[in-house]
Amino acid sequence: MTAQYQVIGDVAVVTLANPPMNGLSHATRLAIADGVHKANADPAVKSIVVTGAGKAFCSGADITEFGSDKSIQEPNLLSLILMMENSAKPTIAAVHSICMGGGLELALGCHYRIAAPGTLVALPEVKLGLIPGAGGTQRLPRVLGVETALNMIVSGEPVKSEMLASIPGQKLFDKMASAPEALAAEALAYAKEIAAKHDDGSALPRVRDLKVSHPNAQAYFQFARNMVAGMAKNYPAPVKCVDAVQNALTMKFDDGMVAERDIFINLMWTPECRALRHLFVAERAASKIPDVPSDTPQRTIKQVAVIGAGTMGGGITMNFLNAGISVKMLEMKQEALDKGIAIIKKNYDAQVTKGKLKQAKLDERMALLTTTLSYDDLKDADLVIEAVFEEIGVKEKVFQQLDAVMKPGAILASNTSTLDVNKIASFTKRPQDVVGLHFFSPANVMKLLEVVRGEKTSKDVMATVMTIAKKIKKTAVVSGVCDGFIGNRMIEQYGRQGGFLLDEGCTPAQVDKAMEKFGMAMGPFRMGDLAGNDIGWAIRKRRATERAEMKYSKTADLLCEQGRFGQKVGKGWYDYVAGKRDAIPNAEVVAMIEAHRKSLGITPRKISDEEIVQRLVFALVNEAAHILEEGIANKASDIDIVYIFGYGFPAYRGGPLHYADQKGLFNVVETMARFAKNPLDDAAFWKPAPLLAKLAATGKTFN
Ligand code: NAD
Repeated sequence: MTAQYQVIGDVAVVTLANPPMNGLSHATRLAIADGVHKANADPAVKSIVVTGAGKAFCSGADITEFGSDKSIQEPNLLSLILMMENSAKPTIAAVHSICMGGGLELALGCHYRIAAPGTLVALPEVKLGLIPGAGGTQRLPRVLGVETALNMIVSGEPVKSEMLASIPGQKLFDKMASAPEALAAEALAYAKEIAAKHDDGSALPRVRDLKVSHPNAQAYFQFARNMVAGMAKNYPAPVKCVDAVQNALTMKFDDGMVAERDIFINLMWTPECRALRHLFVAERAASKIPDVPSDTPQRTIKQVAVIGAGTMGGGITMNFLNAGISVKMLEMKQEALDKGIAIIKKNYDAQVTKGKLKQAKLDERMALLTTTLSYDDLKDADLVIEAVFEEIGVKEKVFQQLDAVMKPGAILASNTSTLDVNKIASFTKRPQDVVGLHFFSPANVMKLLEVVRGEKTSKDVMATVMTIAKKIKKTAVVSGVCDGFIGNRMIEQYGRQGGFLLDEGCTPAQVDKAMEKFGMAMGPFRMGDLAGNDIGWAIRKRRATERAEMKYSKTADLLCEQGRFGQKVGKGWYDYVAGKRDAIPNAEVVAMIEAHRKSLGITPRKISDEEIVQRLVFALVNEAAHILEEGIANKASDIDIVYIFGYGFPAYRGGPLHYADQKGLFNVVETMARFAKNPLDDAAFWKPAPLLAKLAATGKTFN
């Protein structure tokens, strides 16, 4: 049963019971409707309480039903809310923990509402590219006023129940429970009180009948629309939220409801909404590993050690301190430790200055951090993460020492970005305990974590690190072992295309602009300057012997020979002014590219933005298809998550593979065949990966 029905005295209690969050699936809606019918038919029942079991009152619609027939099967959410509103006996929503989306709309359909303190209240539909579609935009302004309601609907952010209850004149909550654990009893008592009040047959209050107005409605909505349009450039939903809320003032309630429904349905089929819904499901799916069931036993992680206090070691450490987990940092020299700690402290100080962190919290976090120069001090750590220089010889020494001192069962992780995790595991006598934890720079900011599963990494280690990732608020994706793992292996092909485009006639600024217009946070050359061009240079040198057949443009090497390593030295593909991040085109770099082009005997041609975008994005897609086929990634949606959270791919395009699916894989393959005919490109690369060719030929998609 997805909702329970119980009669306590003369109160019927309908309890949503669809774990984990009481999503309003078709079965749940049926069960609620059934309860309300029963209660109305039972002469012994005087009032009806609707509440939720477990961790939530209700998190809203069941997203897995979105776009399917089930979502509209009767009773759909609108019908269910009407039932609440039209019930002859008073309906009272007793909300706690989480009251969001359709859950809040359901509560707004009830005659009365009582809330537990600490309940998170939200209409988060905008985050999925939608507006609330079951009356939220019409009812919330009637109980909270236009401005508070619009803020909540446009941002999708949760607000605590006690905050909302303190707004003068609010009608969202008729009563606050004294404490979360008192809600059940106090809701019952309140229901009796309500029943007695209406014993005389007086009309039951309905939110739809409340008046809503704003002293400067016209000016306010114009202002709101301009603000929202400026902030939500590539997303259609936020502006539609403004339209819908304005309708609550200008239209009759029922007309406003029809308009809300129209907007909702039109948004549902926009590319942006599809992309955001895809990502919502993909993010939740990423934490699931096919052969590691959710009941796999896990190891306890209370103490963490980090080796190396450099760029990555510092950022990684902050993640754990933020989560309240103590960290011991190890370095070769005291100066390196002092420097690393000073940078962590500086980062926290900046947050305090901006008012994002309280001084007391800073002190609390710094108190969790200790340092050492001796491996013996690490022996009690449950998890150690190595972030030393990217040289296999250095890693070998570190892992041998860790193997010698760490307690049995400790997890030994490496933050390597390119080295072979199986080889690193082989430096120890416990390869089952070794795993890659590939953080992205800056590690305290970037959400992505690639968890690199070695051949011998044990399942309980995988389960444990996926849990730890959640604890430190990362979105973890599992990758198998290969050069570059998922993200960097793909970005190499993307960068290679960028190089060919320079040889053929583009400037770095032209390529970057085209990609930024497409929606990338940064074009490939600005990204290179940020990450450090010397890093790619070192990798290419290593690969020159390992993979001699791989063709590259020479421009990036020429750039590095001039010491133009990027932002850290104030010059790369662009020039930089100290303390600023603006990329200023440099005429000498452009001249260098032209001279190189001439030396190759290439006549430059005008290249369209469309060609730039397709070559770079389809290069990602083809490499991703190889990665999927080789089993390096478990599923296509994992690859989309890597690109959204780690590489600045625009969320409203849903990731490279979702984007390719939407373009049509047949079209992608046709376009690639055209690129293969370009003698200055790499024809062998553009041969579609077998998986891509097969999907395209059979009219299927990645996701
Ligand atoms: P870094 O040079 O900033 O820091 C490395 C630190 O390790 C230095 O402080 C050094 O003193 C210390 N160190 C070196 N050998 C040591 C040893 N034997 N014992 C203890 N400490 C030692 O380098 P980084 O950018 O932080 O990179 C560290 C690792 O993270 C590398 O494997 C790198 O590939 C990986 N990584 C880097 C990035 C990035 O963008 N910088 C991103 C992801 C992963």
